[in-house]
Amino acid sequence: MNATDETMHPVSYYIRTFGCQMNVADSVDYARILEGLGCVRAESEESGDILVVNTCSVRAKAEERAVSYLGRVIQQRTETKGPGIQTGHRGIAFVGCMATVRGQEILKRFPEVRTIIPARELDTFKERILRAWPELKESSGPDTYPLLRPEEKFERFLPIIRGCINHCTYCIVPSARGDWLVSKPPDEIFDEVEKLLDSGVKSITFLGQNVCAYGLEIKNSTQSGFDFADLLSGIRDRFSDRDVWFKFLTSHPRDVTEYLIDVIASHECFSRHFHLPIQAGDDAVLERMGRGYKSSEYIETIGMIRRKIPEMRLSTDLIVGFPGEDEDAFEHTLDVVRKLRFDQAFTFLYSSRSGTPAEKWADPVPQDVKKQRLQILIGIQNQIALENASSKIGEERTVLIEGPSMRSSEDGMVAGRTREEEVVVLPGTSDDYGRRLNVRLIDAKLRSFIGERTD
Ligand code: SF4
Repeated sequence: MNATDETMHPVSYYIRTFGCQMNVADSVDYARILEGLGCVRAESEESGDILVVNTCSVRAKAEERAVSYLGRVIQQRTETKGPGIQTGHRGIAFVGCMATVRGQEILKRFPEVRTIIPARELDTFKERILRAWPELKESSGPDTYPLLRPEEKFERFLPIIRGCINHCTYCIVPSARGDWLVSKPPDEIFDEVEKLLDSGVKSITFLGQNVCAYGLEIKNSTQSGFDFADLLSGIRDRFSDRDVWFKFLTSHPRDVTEYLIDVIASHECFSRHFHLPIQAGDDAVLERMGRGYKSSEYIETIGMIRRKIPEMRLSTDLIVGFPGEDEDAFEHTLDVVRKLRFDQAFTFLYSSRSGTPAEKWADPVPQDVKKQRLQILIGIQNQIALENASSKIGEERTVLIEGPSMRSSEDGMVAGRTREEEVVVLPGTSDDYGRRLNVRLIDAKLRSFIGERTD
């Protein structure tokens, strides 16, 4: 029997997600657990009895955003006079990466927070929720994937590995999410993929801090097992006849093998977008970052990928202003960017994170110098990205329509993504949502294309 409040309403929940795709996927799992405990989805964070705040700690800004959100939403919830306001069910679960690094502080500061669930202890989510809301009971609800965002009807993130053992010196992930590797067994992944495809999903993105390390902990301990390339071969052999694209995020350059790229090249069901963070172009800076490769090795890997899959669209991450980055080192980063001509780059200012190895080096590069360098880098990269995109005008694509276009003010415009992870905007209606349309690219913007149907 589901837990209800005095007015016999089932206990409701709402999840607010900050941060990366991994958090987005984790929030779906939290919703699944809460619905398994008889809870129902609330319309808003004000009206939800249980508010789950899923947080990020990748940069100081992300933490500040979560804290100010918490203050604001607690105020709004107190003012809300909706059903359930009087009941004893209302409370907040503070979860995710920030719960790992600053959970105790949040618990002291906000009495409305009933429990904290660190990202590195995700498997205790249910137990901690039940401890904080003992009135909840297991219910025999359907074992489905709750739809937290409309686009999840057709596109899903599916975590396949948790944790990271790379210990890049600037990164909070190993301490926030776990400095170990836990790969989901292949059969479990195949089952989840089958379920998602049967529910109408048309694009699945395999997630991990480093998907290329998939199965490594098993291989290291048993000298046998499945690595990421083996997993993708298994996926191809089981599901490539289905109407689906398989994408993956994020890869570490040191773990990209020729075998992996050969498997990706072996079938159209695999993405033609590869996100490979380089972070910097200078070898001394890469060494201080603990990245485990030189820029020449990274360039070689990109060369190998482009030889095997010339149409592969490449993106990367770049950090500016890391301790030890002088003008020459920064120039080396610009040289690599000019040489490799990425289709997209996510660029960041270095900010020191407590609990990371780099914290001890302080943060010597002045903020204004960092900002100057970031503007220079963005200027060069955007020019390259636009030139790359413009060279694709006239090409044909298949576009999976996700929903209404947020990028066009015109009515009657829909948006979707290609297998190359390009965003395309074109005329369409809600009947097109979830359909794959054949499209010609007729105009290029920095982060999207305008398309016209060819069928
Ligand atoms: S590979 Fe490095 S940057 Fe990426 S999650 Fe692991 S430690 Fe962080």
